[in-house]
Amino acid sequence: MIRLPAFEYLAARTVGDAVKYLTDRGPDAMLVAGGTDLYPNMKRRQFEPKALVGLRGIRELRGVRATNGGIAIGAGMTLTQVATHAEITRRYSALATAAGLVSSPQLRNMGTLGGNVCVDTRCNYYNQSYDWRKAIGFCMKKDGDICLVAPGSSRCWAVSSSDTAPVLWALGATVRLAGAAGERTLPVAALFKDDGIDYLAKRADEIVTEIALPESDGWSSVYLKLRRRGSFDFPVLGVAVAVRREDEIVREARIVLGAVASQPREAAAAGASLVGARLTSETITRAAELAAGPSKPLDNTDFTHPYRKKVTRVYVARALARLAGLDTGPSSYEAAG
Ligand SMILES: Cc1cc2nc3c(=O)[nH]c(=O)nc-3n(C[C@H](O)[C@H](O)[C@H](O)COP(=O)(O)OP(=O)(O)OC[C@H]3O[C@@H](n4cnc5c(N)ncnc54)[C@H](O)[C@@H]3O)c2cc1C
Ligand code: SF4
Repeated sequence: MIRLPAFEYLAARTVGDAVKYLTDRGPDAMLVAGGTDLYPNMKRRQFEPKALVGLRGIRELRGVRATNGGIAIGAGMTLTQVATHAEITRRYSALATAAGLVSSPQLRNMGTLGGNVCVDTRCNYYNQSYDWRKAIGFCMKKDGDICLVAPGSSRCWAVSSSDTAPVLWALGATVRLAGAAGERTLPVAALFKDDGIDYLAKRADEIVTEIALPESDGWSSVYLKLRRRGSFDFPVLGVAVAVRREDEIVREARIVLGAVASQPREAAAAGASLVGARLTSETITRAAELAAGPSKPLDNTDFTHPYRKKVTRVYVARALARLAGLDTGPSSYEAAG
């Protein structure tokens, strides 16, 4: 059994406490919400914080409130709560689906929406024990100098593997951040950076406090996930689509891919190709072809990368067909690699 290293636990009761603890401890501290990703990573010495700032005791981070036409979800809401919340399942069904497909029931009962949005990027050469990583000489994401996937590269290509991030992007969500300099709001689309190490555009002292979803009138959304084991695997491809229709004509469309890059990747040309059209077999096929373009998986997660690129087209077509009422398959697919 791999044990957790010793660390100090600072139980915050308010967001202000948490910001203060983070600011005082600087790079020695990390936030922990459900701990479902962070603790295993600490056991493998991927993270070595001296102190953890616990968010579980902060009431302000819980609950769902109505906003101007939309809703705002506290970052501390568990994935189970998000997946089963009546308003979320009715108005933002892709988000409920994505939250409900994360990992296993036990982890969804502990894991939070904020933690899922901020979850670390993944790579076959990094999500390993310390001894495994040591045996291959480490890599630049932790303890080493080079990228083992692309040895000539000056950057890390670890993969954004959050189920909810591409959905929140497709739904046009914003995140509220609280830090030492005060509060600010960012579109979810601006929260992620295309860098496997420095993957979040938030300052180290900032906490995600709330995720706001806009007005949902006329919108419908779907999330589809590819993974090896249907019971509890990270996505190796996530497809989030959200469209707004008036009289069956698409007025706005966003298609966002997960697990194909270090950040969720919007297939903007594919979304734009649907605007002004109905969802038919022809328009769906054209959009799905265009969506495969931005899908550029590398050979650092499960399944081969040519296969993952190839199935992007299939998954986008399935997701759009679902919105058009032409497909009624499952939301999660297991595939033989
Ligand atoms: C076996 C296994 C399977 C998994 N499968 C999936 C999967 O299918 N899909 C998936 O998306 N994830 C998966 N996960 C990862 C993880 O369980 C989820 O992403 C979960 O939602 C993380 O939430 P948490 O609250 O536990 O985050 P934590 O583990 O507490 O934290 C995760 C990261 O987010 C940061 N953080 C947490 N809360 C905040 C906040 N409010 N503001 C700023 N930073 C914050 C932490 O500092 C840490 O860096 C899996 C994990 C395991 C161990
Ligand atoms: S992409 Fe390269 S640097 Fe990043 S975790 Fe993988 S091997 Fe390491």
